[in-house]
Amino acid sequence: MLEELGVRPVINAAGTVTVLGGCQVDDEVLDAMREAAKVYVDMNELHAKAGEFIARLTGAEAAYVTNGAAAGLVLSVAACMTMGKTDLMSKLPATDGMKNEVIVQWAHRNMYDYNLELSGARIKEIGHERWTKRTDLEDAINEKTAAVVHFVFDPQEGVLPLNDVIEISHERGVPVIVDAAAELPPKENLMKFVKMKADLVLFSGGKDIGAPNDTGIILGRQDLVQQCMRLGPHSYEKVDSKVRVYIGRPMKSSKEDILGLLAASKRYLQTDHEMRIREWDRKLQYMISELSECKGVNVRRFEPTVGHNRPACIPRVELEFPNSPTSAGKYAEEFKKQDPPIYAYVMNDKLYLNPQCLKDGEERIVVSSLRRLLSSHST
Ligand SMILES: *Cc1c(COP(=O)(O)O)cnc(C)c1O
Repeated sequence: MLEELGVRPVINAAGTVTVLGGCQVDDEVLDAMREAAKVYVDMNELHAKAGEFIARLTGAEAAYVTNGAAAGLVLSVAACMTMGKTDLMSKLPATDGMKNEVIVQWAHRNMYDYNLELSGARIKEIGHERWTKRTDLEDAINEKTAAVVHFVFDPQEGVLPLNDVIEISHERGVPVIVDAAAELPPKENLMKFVKMKADLVLFSGGKDIGAPNDTGIILGRQDLVQQCMRLGPHSYEKVDSKVRVYIGRPMKSSKEDILGLLAASKRYLQTDHEMRIREWDRKLQYMISELSECKGVNVRRFEPTVGHNRPACIPRVELEFPNSPTSAGKYAEEFKKQDPPIYAYVMNDKLYLNPQCLKDGEERIVVSSLRRLLSSHST
């Protein structure tokens, strides 16, 4: 089919990014999706049982399958604003008269946080670009506060840590929503934030978990997860004697998605991640040693610290092009024009190669393409 369309598969040296389709979906997961494709089920029953399944896997009180962590942001804020009251639920995204503010640390502001406002909530920013003090949060919480939203990829020291956020919020009866969409590996993170007593925790299914890219998980408190489900795509409730759907309807997950996510999550927790890390390491070592011999480029192994926009424990190759009129961005563009096209990513005028999604042998293609590009620029 791709051939018929004229769409070429690309080499993914960027990681599990949505713009390249997320992740590869293994046969085991496809088998579960195929099973779902051939039958009809009661979707509310499937959701309930799927939630119990994920809850058992992760140790959470309850869980709900969404069609992405971003949908999880919308539903979880909607749940915290309406707390199961049908008259409020049916009004969203209009939020007059509701608790309709969500608190976010300035240092956590990111490209996804706007999705919080799709629910009808407004973001109330606290702290400073580089720091947040306890009093910033304490002073910001008031009768309009629906939830505090914590993004896990702490960009720097000085932000308020999750433990403090939870303590301060819970003292004031305010739930904490944790966006941990891309915080895998390590797989222990699937349990970690629930253990810390966050009220709702969101993960993407279509990043390292290896489920279809339009899946996600909400973990957390039974009552709030239940309300997310009621606001979700498969609920039909009577409001003023009329049946209607709620704000989650455009965020529909299919039976194929749900079973795919369950199979992928189960598999993910059984996977030997040490072996994956060794494999990434092998590809990395190869690329570094081959590229180190090239002129016009400084090559180094880069261990991202927490905050480097992707999971912290995946090392990558960092390439710098000193004294070159060609920027890292230009190299990245030319990389995309290779055959097969190669997608890497650029930050601060450096090019990064992430081994996470490279198939066996693709590291060789990356090296030879880059060699070719470098020599064409040196002449
Ligand atoms: C990827 C990501 C999202 C969006 O998740 P989807 O599963 O693609 O909807 C939200 N927040 C953060 C921090 C992410 O990295």
